[in-house]
Amino acid sequence: MSSLSVNAQRLWNAHMRMAEIGATPEGGSNRPALSAEDAEARALLRQWCAELGLAEERDALANSFYRRPGTNASAPAIAFGSHLDTVPTGGRFDGIFGVLAGLEVLRTLHEAGLATHAPLELVNWTNEEGTRFRPAMMGSRVHAGHLPLAEALATADDAGTTVAQALAATNLAGPTPPAPRHWACLIEPHIEQGPILEANHQDIGIVTGTVQARYFLVTVTGEPSHAGPTTMDRRRDSLSGAAEIILAVERIGRAGEPGGRSSTTWIMNSPNARGANSAITRLHCDVRHESPARAAEMQAELEAALAEIATRRSLKIEIDPYTTFGPVTFDPALCARLRNSAAARQLSTRDMTAVAGHDAVMAAAVVPSAMLFIPSVGGITHNPGEYSTQAQLAHGAQVLLDTILDLAGTAN
Ligand SMILES: [Zn+2]
Repeated sequence: MSSLSVNAQRLWNAHMRMAEIGATPEGGSNRPALSAEDAEARALLRQWCAELGLAEERDALANSFYRRPGTNASAPAIAFGSHLDTVPTGGRFDGIFGVLAGLEVLRTLHEAGLATHAPLELVNWTNEEGTRFRPAMMGSRVHAGHLPLAEALATADDAGTTVAQALAATNLAGPTPPAPRHWACLIEPHIEQGPILEANHQDIGIVTGTVQARYFLVTVTGEPSHAGPTTMDRRRDSLSGAAEIILAVERIGRAGEPGGRSSTTWIMNSPNARGANSAITRLHCDVRHESPARAAEMQAELEAALAEIATRRSLKIEIDPYTTFGPVTFDPALCARLRNSAAARQLSTRDMTAVAGHDAVMAAAVVPSAMLFIPSVGGITHNPGEYSTQAQLAHGAQVLLDTILDLAGTAN
């Protein structure tokens, strides 16, 4: 184990400074992917890395990479990082911790004047959250070859702005197509976004894999009508049909517990006009389960519910299962390294399964990957109240530093 220690106060200060960008009145952060706020957050990271002598390299989707050379120039790099974008009701830690813990590692090495044999690479992935542009984990998804670049660039947000246009507006696009890099492995530190570590008084989660998640765009088509004279039996109201679907999705998730989850997270309604019953309503839904077979059953239950609602209400209901992730098993050797690093610092660990999507889940297809979790106070996440303590952040960054040094080897 190295004797180097991360600087807990500096790591905390970096989080608080980053949180000023897109700060919300409730104390959270709102930095949608490829927004002006996202660009400002990236500029701050660029400035911080420039102070360490590290230049940014960006690919065509604005995934950004900061490479610290090693003494062995031909060795594959040890990569680490996460994302700086947030959901509109985001907190100060989801994704940010993974990037800033990586920055803290680089700062600590810089301060100590310590060189590693293998190069190191900090990564900030584009559009992990997927709230503005679907699907989520877009940057890492294209990087890993799960989505063509052209398709990602053509994706529009709810206002009709495409990813390509947003990249042009923020001047963030780099020259090279996203593709696997010369990496030995990727480590993504992240907040747990759940209550398990805190409830069990454990310091570090070793994420051994993920559940399976299936995402759907559901389109309900009815018929516009006057909200007054149209008798109830003659209505084909898409919004009322959607209400039933939303509750059916929730029921399926409840029935799928403890391993299952399901949500409806987005709605678009047309004509969305007072006085007119709705003609078209679109929903984004997802189902998740630690057992892929059960996730498939949950999808089948959803499809059956949609068919029943469509028949009973004389609506047309279409389902587009537009993307999935998982199940993924992270690299066992890398997980063992993380576990050992934590143990050497007398930090307790727990093996966990991630229920949320993460960039490492995409990258795992092209590079040995793993994640470490730190506790989330109260399990609160995607919420301005999201919180991890200064000590919890520092523990995670320390395990990251020790593991990176273990993997990269030190030269002096
Ligand atoms: Zn995240």
